Formats: sequence, C-alpha cells, structure tokens
Amino acid sequence: MDCPFCSIANHSTGAEILYETDEAISFLDHRPIAKGHALVASKAHYHDIYDIKLETLYEVYRIAQIISRVLRDLYRPEGVNLIQNNGENAGQTVFHFHVHIIPRYDSAYNKVLEKVARKRVQVDESVLAPIGNHIRERLKSLR
Ligand code: AMP
Ligand code: ZN
Repeated sequence: MDCPFCSIANHSTGAEILYETDEAISFLDHRPIAKGHALVASKAHYHDIYDIKLETLYEVYRIAQIISRVLRDLYRPEGVNLIQNNGENAGQTVFHFHVHIIPRYDSAYNKVLEKVARKRVQVDESVLAPIGNHIRERLKSLR
C-alpha cells in the first residue's frame, strides 16, 4: 500500500523523527504552519478516529502530550493546538491516523477564530433538544 505515513513508520521514507514507541511515532510536519509543528501518527495503518484501536489512540495522545510539553519548554509558544482531521471535508489529506501539534506564537490564528466565531449564531433549546435526545437514545442502545 502506498501510504506516506506507513513508509515513515517503517523507516523506508525519511522524516525528522522526534520520538517513537511500538504503537506510535512523532515527526516534524514537512510543511510546517509554525516552528515545531509536529505530527503524531499510529505505527499501524488506521484511517481515522472511527477505526483506530483504543490502546493506540491512547498512545498517540500520550506522545502528543510529551511533545507538546517539550515544545512549550523549548520554544515558549503562547498556545498550542492539537488538531486531528477525519475525512476530506474536515481537511484530512493523509488517510493514516495522525494528530497535529501546532504551537502558536502570535495572535494570527486567534484572529481567524474570532472571524469564524462572529459568523456563528447561538441557537435555543428547541434546536438543541431534539439533537441531544437523538444522540442520547443512540448512546443508550450502545451500553
Ligand atoms: P492532514 O491534512 O491532517 O491529513 O495532514 C497531513 C499533514 O502531513 C500535512 O500537514 C502535510 O504537510 C504532512 N505531511 C505529508 N507528508 C509528509 C511527510 N512525508 N513528512 C512530513 N509531513 C508530511
Ligand atoms: Zn498508512
């Protein structure tokens, strides 16, 4: 299978690897949004949040916390985003499970968020309640 992150995970393609365990690997994104922009991927080929094994998901986020702390200590960003895209319309371009760790050094991203927030409209309970009921019903059936 032709998957870039499988190739990095099995060391057949080079990458700036930061950390790895049996289950997960962290490396620098080759098109960084900011200094230290890192990825943490599963070693095995899972597509997304829907199919990843829980133990592997845990390991990916355990490493994400380690890398986030190191970036904080080294580069003193003002914040950090952990972003995990699932599906093309959510921005996923590599269909192998991974989390972005993006340190934020200035207010540029916050300004983008503010712009988006201004377009959001607060809805009342009559909109939220049927959706809440719908989801809770499904969750009950999973127990
Ligand atoms: P996403 O859009 O969430 O699927 O993110 C994929 C990310 O992987 C992008 O930010 C790419 O820049 C990054 N990327 C793709 N191929 C490589 C590679 N070979 N080494 C490092 N980063 C990569
Ligand atoms: Zn893969």
